[in-house]
Amino acid sequence: MTQTEAQPVPPPPSGPAQLLEVRDLHVEFRTRDGVAKAVNGVSLDVGEGETLAVLGESGSGKSVTAQAVMGILDTPPGRITGGRILFEGRDLLKLSAEERRTVRGARMAMIFQDALSALNPVLSVGYQLGEMFRVHRGTSRKEAKAKAVELMERVRIPAARARVDDYPHQFSGGMRQRIMIAMALALEPRLIIADEPTTALDVTVQAQVMELLADLQREYRMGLVLITHDLGVVADVADKIVVMYAGRIVESAPVRELYRTPAHPYTKGLLDSIPRLDQKGQQLDAVKGLPPSLLRIPPGCSFHPRCPMARPVCHADEPPLYEAGRGRASACHFWEELLDAE
Ligand code: SF4
Repeated sequence: MTQTEAQPVPPPPSGPAQLLEVRDLHVEFRTRDGVAKAVNGVSLDVGEGETLAVLGESGSGKSVTAQAVMGILDTPPGRITGGRILFEGRDLLKLSAEERRTVRGARMAMIFQDALSALNPVLSVGYQLGEMFRVHRGTSRKEAKAKAVELMERVRIPAARARVDDYPHQFSGGMRQRIMIAMALALEPRLIIADEPTTALDVTVQAQVMELLADLQREYRMGLVLITHDLGVVADVADKIVVMYAGRIVESAPVRELYRTPAHPYTKGLLDSIPRLDQKGQQLDAVKGLPPSLLRIPPGCSFHPRCPMARPVCHADEPPLYEAGRGRASACHFWEELLDAE
């Protein structure tokens, strides 16, 4: 972590309607084989105290969207080519690199999938947690260590005081992920983006870490964006979901509505592939085929080569994101058929 000087955080303009508003975001990657359109016109909102799950397979653009919001896109080759990212009413794309870093440190934070590579292996976890306070708040070394213990207790690490000088490799995968959560929480940000925070963990530990995140989100009334490829892990914690495919949002809905009746065949395929305890041994109906290359997104509906409902119009006409009522939207020409099947 860089030893930058503490920077005052400029106050946000009063009364933003939302914590985070992303509007018509476009991100491209220049590769040797051409331009990959990783994010194509994504818009989403996250309110104070709200949890948004962003769901999609790898290559759907979900992590790139998160990186663009955090200002950590790999540039080049990645480039934001259009859109706006408003956070607490400020357009992040108009801030200087220094202002952006300050917002990122104090107002928004990110939790990564792989805690082991995100943490420094040669520094104790207490030092790394304390560094947040020393760098951003100018806290003394002794006080920073006390705060590190406090944070470890907050994320329910047993015997925190005795373990504050341990190194990352001395903790289990689940405990390391708790330390990542503690680091993200240190400066009490208003928004946390968690990119596949439990993917590397076994199922029981996944549930515990997800429960911890949800508890802390409620306690701090933060906005939380959960990036995941697994619909099963977000059902109990998210308020609303956006489903991404080939760089676009194909469905967005309040979580219960989406689970009850998906309004897009892709979401339906993902839901059908979640194992259910009451139907042991049943064959899971995963979405067949692979997502398209972002260098060659199919014309018309980008999902048509995999869609069991595809018709001739789907090959030619790209569906817009239709308003489907009850706070939901679907990029399928035939969304009404799916909802009528309710
Ligand atoms: Fe399937 Fe056509 Fe709907 Fe696309 S528009 S999801 S291909 S039915």
